[in-house]
Amino acid sequence: MYHKSVTELSSLTAEAFKTFLDSFDTVLTDCDGVLWLEMKALEGSPDVINTLQDLGKKIFYVTNNSTKLREDFEKKGKLLGFKCQLDQMVSTSYIAAEYLKAKGVQKAYVIGSTGISQELDKVGIENFGIGPDILNSELGKLVENYQPESNVKAVVVGFDPHISYVKLMKASSYLGDPECHFIATNTDESFPASQNLIIPGTGTFVSAVATCSGRDPTVMGKPHHFIVDAISKNYKINPARTLMIGDRCNTDIMLGSNCGFQTLLVLTGVHQLKDVKNFTETKQEGLVPDFYLPKLGDMLPLIQQVIN
Ligand SMILES: [Mg+2]
Repeated sequence: MYHKSVTELSSLTAEAFKTFLDSFDTVLTDCDGVLWLEMKALEGSPDVINTLQDLGKKIFYVTNNSTKLREDFEKKGKLLGFKCQLDQMVSTSYIAAEYLKAKGVQKAYVIGSTGISQELDKVGIENFGIGPDILNSELGKLVENYQPESNVKAVVVGFDPHISYVKLMKASSYLGDPECHFIATNTDESFPASQNLIIPGTGTFVSAVATCSGRDPTVMGKPHHFIVDAISKNYKINPARTLMIGDRCNTDIMLGSNCGFQTLLVLTGVHQLKDVKNFTETKQEGLVPDFYLPKLGDMLPLIQQVIN
């Protein structure tokens, strides 16, 4: 019986690599853990992305990160040496705002950061909830004095370093209204970090709100299709000629598998080869990439050998 297996891209012959390079004209690339870590570009990543672009490939930078505006991502990309324009940047806060605008929502409660509130502002959706909101009396007093805002038709949950008991209570209470949309920017469990730390991600807070409210969120980020829908509004994606690059199998690679793209895993972020081996053995084929590279920068010499 056939089981999907992963190929190291560097192991291809020059001819086979050329075939691979010619097989796609659109690239969706994750950012954190593929292109950069925090404020540092990963070695060789800008050269690879810029070279692919020079070869005529259309690049989209797709991130589950909800903390920044698209403009911020564009600025960061440029600062770190990537050729990029605003219309190539796709972030979950932007998609969430567009989604809620299309649903006619006028007011939203936000667990998250200014990346979300500013994207909501841009589409004219009133919103509140950003910043610290902690229990500074006894719980009984808070409950007694609680005054919900009226007409809240969406709760948006993104990354929020000020997550608190009070915020979980408010979010879940607004979700008691079945007409109130429950939007999660993403469900990433944790962040890739350069130290021996686990940094809780948005998925941690989404689970808490889902548990408390008994509601399932609509998830904007990878591996769900909304990111691809947003790109498809202005650009025709041919899945058979699209490559998805990522460092996390359950978001990036899964999105690629769900959409029929080729997939490339780089080992500079969350998932490693031992994880892929585990996904293969447990037959979770959607999580198994077609190709892998230790780092994206390793593609540069492969490209150079076939274009020179
Ligand atoms: Mg990543």
